[in-house]
Amino acid sequence: MRIAEIHLYQVDLPLNGTVYRLSEGAHTALDSTVVQIVSDTGLSGWGETCPIGPTHAPAHALGARAALTQMAPGLIGRTVTGPSAVQRALHGLLHGHNYAKAAIDIAVHDLLGKAHGLSVCDMLGGATTDQVDSYWSLTLDDPDETARVAAEKVAEGYPRLQMKVGGRPVEVDIEAIRKVSEATGRTPLVVDANRALLTRDVLRIDRECADIPFVFEQPCNTMEEIAAIRPQLGHPVYLDESAEDLGEVLRAISLGVCDGFGLKVTRLGGLGAMATVRDVCEARSLPHTCDDSWGGDIIAAACVHVAATVHPRLLEGVWIAEPFMDRHYDSAHPVRVEDGRIQVPTGPGLGVVPDDGAFGDPVASFA
Ligand SMILES: [Mg+2]
Repeated sequence: MRIAEIHLYQVDLPLNGTVYRLSEGAHTALDSTVVQIVSDTGLSGWGETCPIGPTHAPAHALGARAALTQMAPGLIGRTVTGPSAVQRALHGLLHGHNYAKAAIDIAVHDLLGKAHGLSVCDMLGGATTDQVDSYWSLTLDDPDETARVAAEKVAEGYPRLQMKVGGRPVEVDIEAIRKVSEATGRTPLVVDANRALLTRDVLRIDRECADIPFVFEQPCNTMEEIAAIRPQLGHPVYLDESAEDLGEVLRAISLGVCDGFGLKVTRLGGLGAMATVRDVCEARSLPHTCDDSWGGDIIAAACVHVAATVHPRLLEGVWIAEPFMDRHYDSAHPVRVEDGRIQVPTGPGLGVVPDDGAFGDPVASFA
């Protein structure tokens, strides 16, 4: 089976009337990029990458499309034997830009799954479950409103909460953590600063909320800042943005700087890279999420498939953007959070097939 055509689509994903705030900015719409790989046998594999704006990570929507435009011609005519071989080919076409390569990697998994009648979770080692836990991410808001929404989401069935902090006076963060904890009892809580806190403020939150069991997620900008204060912290620490690739995950583990990870499929470079990091985490008994930044049904399906293969005691949940958006690519089989959980899509490949014409005309095509 050879790659005959590649099409790139730009997809607008407006949020459903809400503003999603985190420490580095507010978002009302996302700019996603969908990749369609068409084989010479007539099958289509679909991939997607959707950076959350231009300042969240060293990734942005225009960069994704530029990188894909750079790589796509080099893939035309290539025999698709397996995802790893395609990844090596991509590294030979462009250095870095894992978030763009991830869209190709997801599409190749989808294509091979369809060709061989396997679901992506089976290709990644086999699912341990047919549904995975999600978690609710509480946008940066005033403490009372954050606590109100937190209680509402726990009542809806969400088994875990993440709340955003940072970018405002630390006293407000402390008040919000206290109010969310009081409103939700012992629901597992993660406090995510998205790199924004000074070490001074992390130490203060840690001490003033010593009685509240939560996990810090990416409290500071760099691994080194976190390493500097880690011996003084009473709360566990997960890395998210610092877990840029397998090398950085290995560095974090060897430094002993964290107790787990927030992992993102496209940041790491796709499902193959994610499965490797999953296995490294299992070898060291490190819990982690299986997320992505944003995106539609294709990214959501990719996250859920790999999450279903994680050892259950190490899976910290799957965040997908679906509750914040009205749009689905596959109207017959949308990926949805229901009562705080997500069903693993069934059928070959990702189990998600975009509706005909879902994305309009491609912004670039290669053949
Ligand atoms: Mg995070």
